[in-house]
Amino acid sequence: MVPTLLVLNAGSSSLKFQVFEQHEGKEPRRVFRGLFDGLGTAPNFMVRDGSGTRLDEGRWESGERFGHEQALLHLATWLSEHRGGYRLAAVGHRVVHGGPVFRKPVLVDDAVLRTLEQFIPLAPLHQGHNLEPIRVVSRRFPQLPQIACFDTSFHQTQPEIARLIALPREIRDKGVQRYGFHGLSYAYLASVFPNYGAPLASGKVVVAHLGNGASLCAMANGASVATTMGFSALDGLPMGTRSGSIDAGVIFYMLSEMRLDVAEVEQVLYSRSGLLGVSGVSNDMRKLRALAPTDPDARLAIDLFVYRINREIGSLVAALGGLDALVFTAGIGENDPATRREVLHAARWAGFKIDEEANMRGTGLITQEGSPQAWVIPTDEELIMARDMQRMLAGEQLAEATG
Ligand code: ADP
Repeated sequence: MVPTLLVLNAGSSSLKFQVFEQHEGKEPRRVFRGLFDGLGTAPNFMVRDGSGTRLDEGRWESGERFGHEQALLHLATWLSEHRGGYRLAAVGHRVVHGGPVFRKPVLVDDAVLRTLEQFIPLAPLHQGHNLEPIRVVSRRFPQLPQIACFDTSFHQTQPEIARLIALPREIRDKGVQRYGFHGLSYAYLASVFPNYGAPLASGKVVVAHLGNGASLCAMANGASVATTMGFSALDGLPMGTRSGSIDAGVIFYMLSEMRLDVAEVEQVLYSRSGLLGVSGVSNDMRKLRALAPTDPDARLAIDLFVYRINREIGSLVAALGGLDALVFTAGIGENDPATRREVLHAARWAGFKIDEEANMRGTGLITQEGSPQAWVIPTDEELIMARDMQRMLAGEQLAEATG
């Protein structure tokens, strides 16, 4: 029976999953990917095979009692019906926050789960949802090893000064520092950089993870030295619906002058700002690109996104002390040649000369000879998790074998 790894990424009303086969000494092989969304209201289920062909889908009309637990049970049944002869070896969970404690993936037990629960206030919109399937699996499938992989871990290599926030000690002592996020994406890219030659693997690189959430990471020799997200995933670039960095004075103004309460301010900053807030129509870059020629607010939202990326690149280049290469990844970075062109044009101070044809093709090197390099490299957060899980399981077996 082929040992199989299940990788989960749980949101408030969604559960994304991928299934990998484990083959000794080889890269994990993706066999299924899919998601449940609309959990708790009108759930949908969709699953594709490893090459992206749609295999199955489902819909539940009245879903109040169909949450993460029911989704996991449905998935377990689906897997047993569609995978003769598989054996689930472990479940991996994407967990946004490892706090100051977890520097690498960890095997979850009750004590680890309690520690992770303490970080819920650090990522109130994500952490609790990420932990829910861990509880479900330990209740329903207690024999299964569970491994938590963190979005914060990759940034543990940052120097102390990059993580420090200029606040009094009694506040910093509560864990108020810059953590950084999108670490699984950055870790995956750092792992493939050696395949792309010297500047990426051993140089000064800025990676632009531009998706619905967006951040930049400065890497030297493949390790994080600075990043645009900080204490929370609200910092740095404007995103699909998040404001990005904001003068704290604006928050006081919303609270005391506009009389919004804390929950309303949180909702504005996380859910109604960024590309959506500025355009007034959408957080989706595809829609904004379609509207931009005729809709000045859609154009302005894109212009602000590009302007802020360029300014943050400048800040990270200062932290790195130079720049050898820029890497675009995630939904917008991988798929939108116009954003890449506009960013490279804005950052022409760094000497970028775009190769238009390569940019339109959208993979690999997209700059001309003699320019600092710019690359498009697809990210794969689930694969890095599956690799970590495989390594940890192998380590565990080794530990058992040696007593
Ligand atoms: P998430 O942070 O939710 O994982 P993704 O990495 O999937 O987000 O990125 C979503 C973003 O990528 C959306 O703004 C979407 O419009 C954009 N995107 C996806 N495909 C394209 C495309 N072909 N052209 C422009 N933007 C795209």
